Amino acid sequence: MPFDDVKHQSAAMERVRRALQSGRMPHAYLFTGRPGVGRQLFAERLSQYLLCAARRDDAVDSEDGGLFAPSEPMPLPVEPTVLDACGACEDCRMFAAGTHPDYHPIYRGLNRHHPDKGVQKRKALEHSVEVIRHFLLDAVTLRPSRGRAKVFLVSEAERLSIGAQNAMLKTLEEPPGHSYLILIASSADELLPTTRSRCHHVAFQALPADFIVQELIARGATDPDEARFLAALSQGSLGAAMQLTRGEVVAQRDAVLASLRSVTVDPLGTSRQWQELAKLLTGFKPPDETEDDDEADEAPIAKVKRPAAPPKSKSENAVDDDDDIDDAVDDDEIETGPDARTVREGQRLLLAVLGALLGDALRIAAGVAPHALTEAGQARAIAAGASARRIGDAIRAVSAAERQLELNANVGLVFDALAIAMSRALGARAA
Ligand SMILES: [Zn+2]
Repeated sequence: MPFDDVKHQSAAMERVRRALQSGRMPHAYLFTGRPGVGRQLFAERLSQYLLCAARRDDAVDSEDGGLFAPSEPMPLPVEPTVLDACGACEDCRMFAAGTHPDYHPIYRGLNRHHPDKGVQKRKALEHSVEVIRHFLLDAVTLRPSRGRAKVFLVSEAERLSIGAQNAMLKTLEEPPGHSYLILIASSADELLPTTRSRCHHVAFQALPADFIVQELIARGATDPDEARFLAALSQGSLGAAMQLTRGEVVAQRDAVLASLRSVTVDPLGTSRQWQELAKLLTGFKPPDETEDDDEADEAPIAKVKRPAAPPKSKSENAVDDDDDIDDAVDDDEIETGPDARTVREGQRLLLAVLGALLGDALRIAAGVAPHALTEAGQARAIAAGASARRIGDAIRAVSAAERQLELNANVGLVFDALAIAMSRALGARAA
């Protein structure tokens, strides 16, 4: 399982390789970047490397410190095959099977394996302090079961509660010598300053659109035209593009395109339509399905070992208890629907579709070949109705709406303002 499976992240990988080669691997890492760009995959490869008993290891005893100082220039490339897990030893075998006792993935839904019934029944929107205490802080002080190291990989670290982050501070500051903590987050800004300052930060880049197109086609996920459309919407995330292939975005593309014409007649009605379309667009599944989805690019590579259930005196009781838990969780999810992040992702996606379609219209209006994101005829109709300058105004209105959503502005107002700005830009007087 070579590190080279991770594509187009050479800058991030070189930083870690240099640290490994120097023999001064930091014990607390923060990997940031959009989900689906390879953070999780690389973190898992790194975890396996750290646990492998027969790893290829050219570590040298370097006296140079400060490899990860923020002002440090890009390290020189090193031979990419020098450091790797062997892929064949008992540790690698256990890691691949998801049974390595020294690998501790912290992920959403782990609360269901917490000994406390109350914690089990909670909706797992965050990594709570109880989950972090039990699965990380209590475990980190114990010696590794197999002697080499212990690795804690916290997925979606932006979901760490404030209490959980505060509880982790001392461990992040001085992890026990045998332990490594890897936090994965969308952005460092989503963590407390005290948390991120204790981690060595490695940023993962957006993937090139051409690579995403090529991967979508190679995986048989979609045809070339759709692949280009989805790559344009994915913001450099292969994981997001893969999820889009399972969502409604292609099916709803024409509806979004039609809204670019209706907005000039009925801006506020179109605003409401956009908000409904945004709910349809997102291909993100509820968290419980995602956990078991082997294809999800950010999911753990193998099912994780389940902590042993507490002993129960009667099997009938055990069955009843489990049913209670499942029912409670299901009811909860029916009541609350998709979580706030999923809803926001749908709104972001709708704006991205609007921007992509307007971009095609702009290219046609400017006499440049469109990216074939949509039926050329329909983009041409928009281009015929408005000048390039007016279409540019509409695109800027979409960008403004994207920024306002990032700032958590009122969603209804953001879409109303966008619709009014678009109706002015694309309306009859603009022709
Ligand atoms: Zn190995």
